[in-house]
Amino acid sequence: MKRQEMLDLFITRCGESAEEIQVFNAPGRVNLIGEHIDYNGGYVLPAALEFGTTLAIRKRNDDKVTFTSANFPYHIEVDLEGIGNEKTGEWVDYPLGVIVELRKLGTELTSGYDLLYHGEIPNGSGLSSSASIEVVTAYAFSTIEGKDTNTVEIALLSQRAENLYVGVNSGIMDQFAVANGAKDHAILLMCDTLEYKLVPFATGSYKLVIGNTNKRRGLVDSKYNERRSQCDTALQILQQDEPELKYLAHLAPERLEELKSNFNDEILYNRAAHVVLENSRVLKSVEALSNNDLITFGSLMNASHDSLRDLYEVSCLELDVMVEEARKMDGTLGSRMTGAGFGGCTVSLVHEDSVERFLNEVGEAYERRTGLKGEFYVCGVGNGVHEMKEEN
Ligand code: ADP
Ligand code: MG
Repeated sequence: MKRQEMLDLFITRCGESAEEIQVFNAPGRVNLIGEHIDYNGGYVLPAALEFGTTLAIRKRNDDKVTFTSANFPYHIEVDLEGIGNEKTGEWVDYPLGVIVELRKLGTELTSGYDLLYHGEIPNGSGLSSSASIEVVTAYAFSTIEGKDTNTVEIALLSQRAENLYVGVNSGIMDQFAVANGAKDHAILLMCDTLEYKLVPFATGSYKLVIGNTNKRRGLVDSKYNERRSQCDTALQILQQDEPELKYLAHLAPERLEELKSNFNDEILYNRAAHVVLENSRVLKSVEALSNNDLITFGSLMNASHDSLRDLYEVSCLELDVMVEEARKMDGTLGSRMTGAGFGGCTVSLVHEDSVERFLNEVGEAYERRTGLKGEFYVCGVGNGVHEMKEEN
């Protein structure tokens, strides 16, 4: 949303006052490749989207903090000292968790505030609207209170808010991408050490098309935890011969092949194979992107999806159908599920001249085959969290 529109909305929802209103934005993110790798200590390659969550914020003359969202009717006013005493079970737990984590780092809110959020990211679709609302909140308070706005620290504290306060056991990738993204760049992130590098990702005449299956991700929590524990078990099996191995993703593909006979359980081996090969696909993708070789990158995206479907088994009919239909289209270089799976979104790399046909034909075939209406977002790669200053 444009800065001026947000200011107007803020006045409508929160009223006039003499204090300055500041506007901040954090994007959503899409993971281009490297799925289910973050908790296995390897490389991921997410990118920030051009749409996200905008926050307009203004100091108050008392010690009340009010939270309003243009996306949800739930509204709350809390006393500064009451923050963190109780979870609400509502969306405000995300920003409340951030305030709690800021406090732990010594950033106290020095006055009350009015906060208004406006989100453009579909919720619960794997495009990280939760990380976006956390990061925009953390960045805004740190900026206004004159504290550390280092975006790596912002990502880490936002992750802690989600893990500890909201109670969702998520890795660092989402918050990291939302905080550190840059226009026309993907982010190569080593999830073990948090070393990262921006990789130029100028898609030229190709567009990212994100397809929302609109399938409710019912199984995702239990299956996510199951995959994590399968990875732990696979790691223990491998550590019998590789005692120094700290994470699954650190194993070379050839070495996994050599140790295959250690596995009695084919499923566990398949899980490990996905992690090890997916991690190497991320590095191959970076090489391809560095050479501006989108064709190779597209085929790596395809291989990633196939592995998630066959080896890691976190896809579902809806994701498979959308990917299959996307790949039938001329002009599609690659298509894969993105996010944890069992629903959520796909990401495809599609030539701009084919995008319109893609939207019509993939949308139509998807609906015919699944009975669900998909939604599509054509998108470039945007910036990470930032203040929207007047000139924008
Ligand atoms: P995802 O991160 O994949 O979009 P999550 O379930 O992790 O899905 O997070 C979605 C939740 O984040 C929403 O249900 C809501 O509680 C919160 N949220 C995200 N964006 C907003 C917003 N603009 N306003 C209020 N709450 C939001
Ligand atoms: Mg989330």
